[in-house]
Formats: sequence, C-alpha cells, structure tokens
Amino acid sequence: MSLARRVVLAALAGSAVTGCGISRRSSAGPSVRTEPAPASAPPASAAPSSAAPSSAASDAPGPAVTPEPAARAVPAAAPTRADLVARLSGTAPSSWGFEPPGAVSSLPAAEQAIALTFDACGGPGGSGYDEALIDELRARRVPATLFLNSRWIGANPDTFQELAADPLFEIGNHGTQHRPLSVDGWSAYGIRGTGDIGEAFDEVAGNQEGLTRLLGRPPAFFRSGTAYYDDVAAQVVTALGARIAGFTVNGDAGATFTADQVRRTVAAAEPGSIVLAHMNHPAGGTARGVAAALPELLGAGQRFVRLSDVAW
Ligand SMILES: [Zn+2]
Repeated sequence: MSLARRVVLAALAGSAVTGCGISRRSSAGPSVRTEPAPASAPPASAAPSSAAPSSAASDAPGPAVTPEPAARAVPAAAPTRADLVARLSGTAPSSWGFEPPGAVSSLPAAEQAIALTFDACGGPGGSGYDEALIDELRARRVPATLFLNSRWIGANPDTFQELAADPLFEIGNHGTQHRPLSVDGWSAYGIRGTGDIGEAFDEVAGNQEGLTRLLGRPPAFFRSGTAYYDDVAAQVVTALGARIAGFTVNGDAGATFTADQVRRTVAAAEPGSIVLAHMNHPAGGTARGVAAALPELLGAGQRFVRLSDVAW
C-alpha cells in the first residue's frame, strides 16, 4: 500500500469528506453510514499524523499553466431519465463506498503529477468561498479541478464566472443537492442519499446540464456529495458521459482539519495522487495548510495537473 493510500485511509477513518457544513459537528467521529456495511468501506488505519511531510522545502515557484483541457465528447445520444430508469430498474446495488466501478481514485501510473481537487458543497453553511485558497493557487500558478455544487454556484454567481474563465482551473460537477448517490436511499455522514434511479439521475443531470449551459461544454468529471456511491447509481454517472472522480488523499477531512493537519496530509501526497479538499470553508484550516504544503511539494519537484490534463 502506498503512503498516499495510507494517508487517505487514515484520514477517512475518523473524518468526513462532506465539507457541506451539515455534518461538521459530528464529523470528528466515525463516518455515519446508516445503511449496509459497505464491502468497499475503508478500513481504519494509522492516524493522519503518522504521515511524514516531505523533507524538501523551498519557496521555488512551480511551473504552470497547462493548456485548456480537452472537452469530453458528449454522448451521441445521452440517455433520458426514463431511459435509465427502464435500463437499471430491478438491479440491486451490491456496494457502497468511494470507489464504485468506473471511478478513478488516482492518476494513471505513467502520470508523474498530483491533481489537487477542491469541493464547494453549497447549501446552509456550505456556500462560503475560500478566496485565500484560490489566491494561493493563482500566485503559485498551481492548477486544480474545482467541484462545484449547484447550490454553491447559485450563491456565488460572480465568483463562479471568474473561476470558470480562469484557465488555471477546471470545473467539475459536485451534484445538484449534494446527496450521496444511491438508488436505495443509503446514507453517508448523516446525509440521505438519492432514493431511486430517477433521483440519482436528477442529482447528476441537474448540475451537469446547468454547467454545460454555463461553460459551453459538459464537465468531464463528477463527484457526488460525500463522494459515496452505490454501484448501480454510479452507472448513471457513466451513462451521462461523466467520469467519477474519486480521490487518493483526503486533504482536509471535510474542512475539519487544522492548518497543520492539512499541511502534513497534503505535503505527503505522492505523484499520482488525487487530493480532495474544500474551497467553501474560508474559516477552516485548508487555505493555510495548502499554502504551507505547496512550497514543500513544488520544492520537491512535484508537478500539478487538472484531471482533464491527464491521458486516461
Ligand atoms: Zn461536498
């Protein structure tokens, strides 16, 4: 098991990935999964503090801006809600977790780079904007993929336009109502998932269609609220032409980590890692932690990419 993998498993053992403000109080404890004991659930592991930070430190700025990501082809005939309800009805889900079929949880082996991803979950308590974090990425010319929820976009329309126009960033779909993606109402972190195939379709397609209008092209990647999926609901994402973005390193545990925890966790990311953190909690430790980790990673020669920069 790689160091990065251990880091994410350790972080997940007692921490959330929601960052939506709903479950922050309880997120210091074990994640709440009220429904089946998932075969793919991460096991408990060592504490995040066991992850040694990179010893290399430098203020050397990194390289950077990469070309505009290639637009992912829109399915020739995207299935409708009724199509998918008919196709998938009667299929019982058999797994529940972060890595459903079709998800990518790390970059291809040949990709010697790190993909930073930041979620903006929206909703009550989750529609903040961590401008300091974005400013830090811009100052160091570090690209990232930003997973935005419909509710966050609605609360931050001007900021959305500014981010979408910046070639440093790729915009991903973080759902319409920020619900775990299930066809049976399974829950994660106390957030009830979508209840059937139609609801799963609505959760993905609502924001996918909105972002396609706003961006002029469909977002290539989707990450559900809480990053949980069952294996049938995951097929809805794939059928709609998006790739499921998992993660390797849980960088801020649902924006609950202190700045030092974020620094140690993010700085330990190895090449090939997809790092998940949040950009909707400006009062949290994420911006300061990332700002401290980036000089270490850049000083060690790490390169950063957006998810669509990668040849999957
Ligand atoms: Zn989220």
